[in-house]
Amino acid sequence: MAAPKVAVVGAGVVGLSTALCVAETCPSCSVMVLSDQFSPNTTSDVAAGILIPHTYPGTPIHVQKQWFKETFTYLFAISNSAEASEAGIHLVSGWQVFKNTPKEELPFWSDVVLGFRPMSEAELQKFPQHRFGQAFTTLKCDCPPYLLWLEKRLKATGVQMCTRKVADLWELHSEYNIVVNCAGIGAHQLVGDEKLFPVRGQVLKVHAPWVKNFIRDGDGLTYIYPGIHRVTLGGTREKESWSLSPDPGTTKDIFDRCCSLEPSLRGAQEMKVKVGLRPSRWCVRLQREVLSQGGVKLPVVHNYGHGAGGFSVHRGTAKEAARLVRECIAALQGSTSKAKL
Ligand code: FAD
Repeated sequence: MAAPKVAVVGAGVVGLSTALCVAETCPSCSVMVLSDQFSPNTTSDVAAGILIPHTYPGTPIHVQKQWFKETFTYLFAISNSAEASEAGIHLVSGWQVFKNTPKEELPFWSDVVLGFRPMSEAELQKFPQHRFGQAFTTLKCDCPPYLLWLEKRLKATGVQMCTRKVADLWELHSEYNIVVNCAGIGAHQLVGDEKLFPVRGQVLKVHAPWVKNFIRDGDGLTYIYPGIHRVTLGGTREKESWSLSPDPGTTKDIFDRCCSLEPSLRGAQEMKVKVGLRPSRWCVRLQREVLSQGGVKLPVVHNYGHGAGGFSVHRGTAKEAARLVRECIAALQGSTSKAKL
């Protein structure tokens, strides 16, 4: 069989990292990223990019932990390299604070992040409305720089990128041997997945260079995540809302909530408001499927539905998607050699 042609649909963090894993682990393939939008116009550009996992109820915890660990290890190595600044990856320490002690004092990811421990009384004094807290160090991606860094890595590996809206995965069958679907919330229409729904998120990006530690309310709704250039203030979780327009009332509410956690934010400047639709699902759809029409087959690997935690697990799910692509190649090679017999 000639070099298998692989199309990856989608250029958010999931599509770009999946294309990179495929190119790295299947060097005989020719890989093309097809997407109607690239950075800075994807949901991934809006994300805060902190590595704190979101839990997928339909995915076994050990699998989620493995995805998170692989992603943490990968980004930790970048943060320790000369690439860190260009890739927008850095370590950040901070606190997750709770008004009441949570049922689960040790989340499943507590031994993956660095230095996880209960907050001391002295630290808790900073948060008079909260009774319990966890301190740890994790990683943060500044999302647009990280996406551009991934694109640069892809070009260096020989992967091509093309702006194209795909109306139906089947339209790719005559040009590609394998299609990888990383369309995020776009998969709702692209493959008619009714289990996929948007969870709208609005965030503020502000200039507040004195804020060095992250602060996250335990319910995950209010957060302050300092990046290299801007601090992300959040947020909202609006299930089934497709609106991409910023809401001024929500902006004020987010800002007030964040200022009650970190009053010095009242002096923040240069506020920008962003909205994104989290591609949410009971579990990430990470599986093979074979489309077939009139005896012609098209192997597809789905990798979408990362909801509120795409940055936290992207490398782990990209590695698994690349493994599924290798299975598709082996199946295609098997059928080609059988046909020759
Ligand atoms: P996207 O970034 O949406 O990419 C999908 C791509 O597919 C796009 O390029 C799109 O143009 C393309 N596409 C779609 N349909 C088609 C089509 N028919 N044809 C061609 N191309 C198509 N996660 C974390 O881990 N940490 C955080 O701190 C965090 N904060 C967040 C804050 C907010 C406000 C939001 C909204 C999300 C946050 N997330 C966070 C979640 C994270 O952003 C997502 O899980 C992640 O970006 C999903 O990536 P994706 O590549 O699947 O989707």
